[in-house]
Amino acid sequence: MSRSEYSDNRMTIEDVALSGKRVLVRVDFNVPLSEDGKIDDDFRIRATLPTIECVLAQGGRPILLSHMGRPKGKRVDGLSLAPVRARLEGLLGRKVHLAPDCVGDGVEEMAASLGPGEVLLLENCRFHLEETENEPGFAAKLAALADVYVNDAFGTAHRAHASTEGVARLLRPAVAGLLMKKELEFLGKLLAGPKRPYVAILGGAKISGKIEVLKNLMDRVDAILVGGGMANTFLKAEGVEIGDSLYEETVLDVAREIIDLAETKGIAFVLPDDFAVADEVRPGTRIRMAMREEGAAGGYIADIGDKTLVGFIEHIARAETIFWNGPMGVFEIEDFSRGTLEVAQSVAAASQGGAFAVVGGGDTASAVAKANVKDKITHVSTGGGASLEFVEGKELPGIVALSMKGEVQP
Ligand code: ADP
Ligand code: MG
Repeated sequence: MSRSEYSDNRMTIEDVALSGKRVLVRVDFNVPLSEDGKIDDDFRIRATLPTIECVLAQGGRPILLSHMGRPKGKRVDGLSLAPVRARLEGLLGRKVHLAPDCVGDGVEEMAASLGPGEVLLLENCRFHLEETENEPGFAAKLAALADVYVNDAFGTAHRAHASTEGVARLLRPAVAGLLMKKELEFLGKLLAGPKRPYVAILGGAKISGKIEVLKNLMDRVDAILVGGGMANTFLKAEGVEIGDSLYEETVLDVAREIIDLAETKGIAFVLPDDFAVADEVRPGTRIRMAMREEGAAGGYIADIGDKTLVGFIEHIARAETIFWNGPMGVFEIEDFSRGTLEVAQSVAAASQGGAFAVVGGGDTASAVAKANVKDKITHVSTGGGASLEFVEGKELPGIVALSMKGEVQP
């Protein structure tokens, strides 16, 4: 099976008859909440509305399943899906019931007695440790709630959890929802013979989690542009003075390996030539521009510099295929947002000019929104870690567990 076939040939919600069926839909309602428990941004809820509407339009009975935050197997009231229930009811314009839990006798009764046109939202599945442990008995209890399984939560597809993987093995057919389908279509194109040059832009703060990705990307792309906190570890590995900047000691060796690997493979691996050095990471602090030879002694690298930006933009403008994950600086603070916003503009311009451009990652997606170019980019993925693992060619457990087209159903 080729890399893209693994994601191309999965059954979707359009391949199954749902009339009268109870449909367990794994959604990603892990929305950012403000301190008083209000929903800050409901984009994840909106993104999955087409799938819920599709189930309802076919006469199916949607039973929605999601996680929220990291309650680590205990009931945490602040991580209840109650605020989501209220918002969803408003968005759908119909009754949404919230179950007190996601499994158990009472919940099974609620699922069984769900009326036509009604929606049931299950409580946060991470209130159970068995969820992240992918415990088979727990997955079986989830499977007992419905007749069909739909996965619309691309953002958690890289995790083999009970609600993403275990239940899909037990409740067949297991199909992709409309949002998942869209993700697979767009991201799949990055695996299946992307047009060249293919440029990857990597940044952000989760260095150790992302550094391995770079190794695997080497076999797929022509150039890798590295900015943000991620670049600091590489700069340090090359002996650049990075002052008090964010970096990760434990992956310095891997960083060196990656730089060598890029050279062996003849890939352009572009690190910052200059950067904005701040006294502190806060608004209104003193900022100086420094070349990499000067270094950042006594300061903090908070954004890429102008020379770097010009180089990055040249690569982006020439690209036919682009994948971007991770901001180029601490873009939440305006003083350090220039590199990220300019990269967003240039990715959008390339995309408008015909390049195939995909952006992944929660913070990168908000940066793109901040730059006002979300609609000008081929695809903004709802997945962070999931999009990275997909793009580096890993098979995501949540996708592998879905039924193949043409597969005989029990
Ligand atoms: P995403 O959510 O898109 O996958 P990450 O979560 O990995 O991206 O990284 C986003 C965070 O990285 C942002 O909060 C941003 O402030 C931070 N960041 C970017 N550059 C730097 C830097 N030079 N130093 C510290 N933090 C940085
Ligand atoms: Mg993030």
